[in-house]
Amino acid sequence: NFFAGFAVTDGTIGLAFIDISTGEFRVTEADDEKILLNEISGLDFREVIAGDELEKSAFLKAFIRQKDACMINYLPSDYFSVDGAALLFREYFHQDQLDKIDFENKRAMSAAACAVLRYVRETQKEGFGHINEMRWYPLNNYLILDDTARRNLELFATIQENRKAGSLFHVLDETVTSMGGRRLRWWLNYPLVDTGKIKERLIAVSEIKERHHERGALRKLLSGVYDIERLGSRVAIGIANARDLVSLKNSLKSVPAIKEEISQSESPLISEIYSSLDDMPDIADLIDGAIAEDPPMTIREGNIIKEGFDSELDELILASTDGKRWIASLEAKERKRTGINTLKVGFNNVFGYYIEVTRANAHLVPDEYVRKQTLVNAERYINEDLKKYESLVLNAEEKRKNREYELFVEIRERVGREIKRIQKTASGIADLDALVSLAEVAERNNYCCPKITDEDRIEIKDGRHPVVERMNPEGVFVPNDTGMDCENNRFLIITGPNMAGKSTYIRQVAVIVLMAQMGSFVPAGKAEIGVVDKIFTRVGASDSLARGQSTFMVEMTEVATILENATKKSLILLDEVGRGTSTFDGLSIAWAVAEYIHDSEALGARTLFATHYHELTDLARTREGVKNYSIAVKEWGEDIIFLRKIIEGGTNRSYGIQVARLAGVPEDVVSRAKEVLKNLEKGELDEMGIPRLAGGKVSDKKSGMAQLSLFAEEENPVLKEIKGIDPYDMTPMEALKKIDEWKRKVKG
Ligand code: ADP
Repeated sequence: NFFAGFAVTDGTIGLAFIDISTGEFRVTEADDEKILLNEISGLDFREVIAGDELEKSAFLKAFIRQKDACMINYLPSDYFSVDGAALLFREYFHQDQLDKIDFENKRAMSAAACAVLRYVRETQKEGFGHINEMRWYPLNNYLILDDTARRNLELFATIQENRKAGSLFHVLDETVTSMGGRRLRWWLNYPLVDTGKIKERLIAVSEIKERHHERGALRKLLSGVYDIERLGSRVAIGIANARDLVSLKNSLKSVPAIKEEISQSESPLISEIYSSLDDMPDIADLIDGAIAEDPPMTIREGNIIKEGFDSELDELILASTDGKRWIASLEAKERKRTGINTLKVGFNNVFGYYIEVTRANAHLVPDEYVRKQTLVNAERYINEDLKKYESLVLNAEEKRKNREYELFVEIRERVGREIKRIQKTASGIADLDALVSLAEVAERNNYCCPKITDEDRIEIKDGRHPVVERMNPEGVFVPNDTGMDCENNRFLIITGPNMAGKSTYIRQVAVIVLMAQMGSFVPAGKAEIGVVDKIFTRVGASDSLARGQSTFMVEMTEVATILENATKKSLILLDEVGRGTSTFDGLSIAWAVAEYIHDSEALGARTLFATHYHELTDLARTREGVKNYSIAVKEWGEDIIFLRKIIEGGTNRSYGIQVARLAGVPEDVVSRAKEVLKNLEKGELDEMGIPRLAGGKVSDKKSGMAQLSLFAEEENPVLKEIKGIDPYDMTPMEALKKIDEWKRKVKG
């Protein structure tokens, strides 16, 4: 949940955003607003600030369309001024960190960062000790996934029910700490493009996967670590309670053992994590020596600080316990002295300590007792001694609470001053937990380590869809191969009937690429992945109906975005493009889109195109980069069996009627559908009404006519008559009369 700011300078848009609860502060900028919008689509913004001048800009309008629930505040330009930026930044961030960022050339980003810091300072009550790292992240360091792709590939939630179970994240997330969970989510949102960095992660995952025993031990140790990132922030902004400190201490105690487990690692990434982990014995000892093991939630009621930590406090505790002891002994003493066996000493919040005597014994009460309260059956008294001890106890208690609070705040501040060390360790734990999770998942699901290259080739042997395979009973998922490049295998058309497994197959390829680029093992026997820069998807019907756009309109907007933004390095998934409109329109659009992606100099991106328009397979005859594949089905009498196996070559049958029967459509409807199909086929048309290139039936009729005459069994009577007469056998007058008659008939 981020708070963000936008600023524009010379056409560049700067973005800064912060998670107030953890202090995570990130900045970036882009010349192209589309890239920035893409970037933002994966982030959850709660509130945004922008300069007045942005209010009417196309960028902000597009932003609002994307995040209609986000609150936007327009602020005057002084918030965004970069005057004094250096001073402002130095207040929060360390100089050596700032040295790494080229502020001179990143004015838009600096302006956004200044505005966010100024605004947060004005509006937040808490301290800012935890905001001390500015993370600059260039956008071209990551594989770009737009919101549509994230949704269609079901990275974090299912499309249908928006549930986490059934998403890719759900399969990959075996983290045991909240920090690790957040880090893994970030990795999945931002897969890498740098082969070196990807390999670094893969080496780390491989190593952890191989060291089976250490992995189990590591997971156990990590699970004992609380969310020290959040705890650290709570400490730094002064809202942590004593339990938070105890949780921090207990977490730090696991760190040495965690370090020990990874000390032998040869992976550079794990070695880096090793050196970032600081068990902070000074802090752990401080908390250990001062804070009770099981303190209450509140910090103003005492019982927080251990005895022996502060002599002043110890004296107060002693005084109070001495006093209480004296009071406790009073009951026995007074019973003996007065002879009243039912005499009791008690305490209540309004009257304090009292001596209670039943009505029946009231005559035995000594003279020095002073009546304090009368009950139905008893009287309550106080005497001089009890009063003295009471005030001693209450005084000491009050002072004790104050002293404990004072000490606690002092300790919290001391710990808060070490926030950077805490954050660094938290980040190391997050990385380690995410890596361990990937290793664990790789082993459990039998994934393989992909080979990562800068080339164009994507070669997958026995690939599986990681989520669908988990939902199918073991052994039922049929693995499939994929071979793509930017040359002769750049545009794969996958045909097959509905339900054959086309969507699953094309998504599986994208998901494998994405997992590989986040540094994960992949569900395949073997995989070589030439990194991609962006993944685009146009898959199935969208849920945007709720936003008031028709399905077809949404589909076409998505297609437009793809054609505009994809590059040669991208991976495009198209599923049933054109389905949202009539058959001829749809097929024509699908055809033209395919040609455009294939032919365009700038594009030529690796594409998987799943379609039940088998006419598209003809594209392969004229386009060298197009390859046809289909998903095998076996005919079995009247029925078909889905084999789920991808095979070379297209199919020219759609088996729609068989699928309808499988789905339980009544037999009457199925047999009528067969009749209609026969009529259609008699028309000897392809569906576009143009002559087929080969293999199919040739028609010379125009598409409009074709559509009208599809169901015409009988010839038009006028036509029949024309065919039957001989004009040379008629007088001109007879001919004229006939024409007039026909005209009236045609008019109806
Ligand atoms: P299509 O896109 O061709 O209509 P889908 O991809 O939606 O088909 O797949 C239909 C069903 O087939 C899904 O429910 C899926 O679980 C199953 N399926 C798809 N591919 C496979 C496979 N390789 N092995 C086993 N089941 C599969």
